[in-house]
Amino acid sequence: MSTYIFVFWIIFTLIVAAIASSKGRSGVVFFILSAILSPLFGFIILLIIGEDSDAKDKEKVNTGTHKKCPFCAEIIKAEALLCKHCGSSLVGSFSPNANETSNIHRQLQNAIYEKDVDKVSKIVHSGIDLNECQEAFSHLEYAELHGNEDIIRTIKFALD
Ligand SMILES: [Zn+2]
Repeated sequence: MSTYIFVFWIIFTLIVAAIASSKGRSGVVFFILSAILSPLFGFIILLIIGEDSDAKDKEKVNTGTHKKCPFCAEIIKAEALLCKHCGSSLVGSFSPNANETSNIHRQLQNAIYEKDVDKVSKIVHSGIDLNECQEAFSHLEYAELHGNEDIIRTIKFALD
């Protein structure tokens, strides 16, 4: 008979410890408390003090599923692009590198349009890939439309 009581005591003690740790409380402390005083006592204490939300938040951040909003310091999902608490945007730019590359092609076409041979030459020789241009016209087409002899020659030379 006493063996049954002991087994149930241990099982309920483990359950209380598990609930405690799921609420951000120390499972070890509640295991000892419940084992010595009684699982029912441990469970009542747990109900009274409730969840440790700070500890739970810290755990969420540590596991990488959540992050802290830099604007309002609330805990939000790691994939969030907007904070659900304060509405702040958590992304500056979706792909800054792609933007920079398309900018340099736009700058080159502006320079062609302005017939600025120096600028065209500088951009062409900065190591960009002229074939990666996403503008409506290729650089050579654009040079033939708006550029001059020097610019066309510079572009053709870079394409060889
Ligand atoms: Zn926020």
